[in-house]
Amino acid sequence: MRLRNNPKANDILAAHDDMVVIDGVQYKNQWHKLFGNNHPIYIEIGMGKGDFIIENASRYPEINFIGIEKFPSVMVGAVKKIDIQDNHLPNLKLLKADAISLRDVFEKGEVNRIYLNFSDPWPKKRHTKRRLTSPAFLEVFQDILVLDGELILKTDNRSLFEYSLVSFQNFGLYFEDVCLDLHHSEGYEDNIQTEYERKFSPFGPIYQIKTRLKG
Ligand code: SAM
Repeated sequence: MRLRNNPKANDILAAHDDMVVIDGVQYKNQWHKLFGNNHPIYIEIGMGKGDFIIENASRYPEINFIGIEKFPSVMVGAVKKIDIQDNHLPNLKLLKADAISLRDVFEKGEVNRIYLNFSDPWPKKRHTKRRLTSPAFLEVFQDILVLDGELILKTDNRSLFEYSLVSFQNFGLYFEDVCLDLHHSEGYEDNIQTEYERKFSPFGPIYQIKTRLKG
């Protein structure tokens, strides 16, 4: 994602501490307390400007959603959207964190589902380890997910899709569903689009892989 640095980003996030969490470490094993219920927790890693997670939270009030993003300037986009729509949802938090450090933020089994939407493809071979579906990240995700937890990937990038299929298979994830053209296949009418999805779907298929830790 092209990033224009917003020098006021940290101040804006700090002023929205009702929905934004900057120091997630304090909520490790405490997220249910923060939400005030025991509903399942679904997270999106790399939420960008938040369209997907905001719409999910508004459509599914019985699920707790956490949108995770590593860049404050990008997070501000989601915060502004929520402010403009005056759509402060009790089941939505936005967390500033890097995916690789999520063990510090979530206890083992604290998360029920992880969404990876249009993750950066990192096409160069020497950058393979930066892909969010590479083994080091999958280890982290395995540690924070419940035993039957789900990991769902959506992408328009054929190379990342193929790499992720192999990486998930090698990691021993159980495949629930693989879709080669999400927007033109039956049974996916409840799909919630992301910013990137709206932008890039006119140019080619959107791929989706649904996996579970255990079959
Ligand atoms: N999910 C959004 C969508 O589909 O429109 C944004 C996709 S954008 C290509 C990828 C996002 O992931 C960027 O906002 C980027 O900052 C974020 N990101 C990349 N690596 C990350 C990491 N290690 N931890 C958290 N967020 C990350």
